[in-house]
Amino acid sequence: DNQLFQSALPVLSTIESHGYEAYFVGGCVRDTLLELPIHDIDIASSATPDEIEAMFKHTFEVGKEHGTIVVLHNDVPYEVTTFRTEGAYSDFRRPDEVQFVRNLEEDTLRRDFTINALAFDHYGNLYDYHQGLPDLKAKLIRAVGTAQERFNEDALRMIRAIRFASQLGFTIEAKTFTSLQELAPLIENVSIERIRIEISKFFQGEFFHLNGDLLPESGLPPYIKAFSKIDVKAGIAGLKHHLKPLIENELTREESFVWALFLHSAGINEKSTIKRLLSSWTHSNQLIRDVQDTIQLLLATDANQLNSWLVYQFPDYIVKQMIDYLGAHQNEKRTELLKLYEQLPIYHRKELQLDGRRIMQVLNMEKGGPIVGKLLLEVEKLVVMGQLENDEQLLLNYVKQAYQSTN
Ligand code: ATP
Ligand code: MG
Repeated sequence: DNQLFQSALPVLSTIESHGYEAYFVGGCVRDTLLELPIHDIDIASSATPDEIEAMFKHTFEVGKEHGTIVVLHNDVPYEVTTFRTEGAYSDFRRPDEVQFVRNLEEDTLRRDFTINALAFDHYGNLYDYHQGLPDLKAKLIRAVGTAQERFNEDALRMIRAIRFASQLGFTIEAKTFTSLQELAPLIENVSIERIRIEISKFFQGEFFHLNGDLLPESGLPPYIKAFSKIDVKAGIAGLKHHLKPLIENELTREESFVWALFLHSAGINEKSTIKRLLSSWTHSNQLIRDVQDTIQLLLATDANQLNSWLVYQFPDYIVKQMIDYLGAHQNEKRTELLKLYEQLPIYHRKELQLDGRRIMQVLNMEKGGPIVGKLLLEVEKLVVMGQLENDEQLLLNYVKQAYQSTN
């Protein structure tokens, strides 16, 4: 981690050598003080975006109107954001205009929580204008300044509060939480994409099994349309139960996996319903497919309906994740699934000693047709189920016979 800061130091030096201030800010400072691993480094600076662009060779714009420029240094991206306040808010989402300011203290006033308003300078000196360090030690999530004002400015911060509680195992300070409950309806104004990102992190938190109930307790779900067809209480209760052993065994919890367990716990198992709900959350098609597969595999496991063909049809990572999950929950079922998976004769269609072209050849067909695909699927299924050996000659013989008997 220290290494990450070391690598970023030249970026600070360059900014400083041009006569501006620059600090490490946000999650990287918080997580370092908590002795947690850090994943990226954010920088706050007195230089404006134009000034930053002028002093580095490799930069790109990600949110220049909000003051953020990405600087590439040794191929590592650093977000450099100009010290700013957030002007007036008319719609509870995003500032109408940002105002650049020239010092760090003013910049920290627009940050969400005291533990996120900490900064390190070049030498590792800590700047703490809002008692963030005492809050870190007391494991408290407390709004910077007045919670009501912070949540009125940007209602997403309410979801971020419970997200950090789930990730860090912290308590939301009493006044911050009462304000949150009071202002919950404001979340209606926030875009579902921003909410989704925070909810996913909330579901994946290391302390979800302890703090997951904060979501129903917050009073937020009724004001989030994408939750309206979901029994959130049941979903959270089930998800806590499913995730506890995974968390305790430090097993990974992919985004698609936690959403699958959440929906399954809320009684949502049907493919088209999953698709409809997750689309309203603006999830990607890839994630939606993974959730559908995970739930289907879970149902088959519970109903003792596992078989080779079924296991073969899921992507490897879905099966492997389920094996880990079962290891933490029901070891006999883990053994069963693992055995089925390890004993699969093939893992992909391309391993089949036969393809459509070969079928057409041996059947003297000029053009392909639905029959070719049908035969191929039939053969694939028999091989996977262990009823036909994956040997080219045997497969061809089978195809010839099957073709003749249909004609
Ligand atoms: P993570 O470890 O998830 O990256 P983080 O604290 O770095 O956590 P980011 O979303 O990367 O979170 O934001 C970086 C910093 O920017 C935060 O620490 C906080 O100071 C500030 N910030 C981000 N989003 C908001 C917001 N909606 N309102 C106020 N400040 C915010
Ligand atoms: Mg961050």
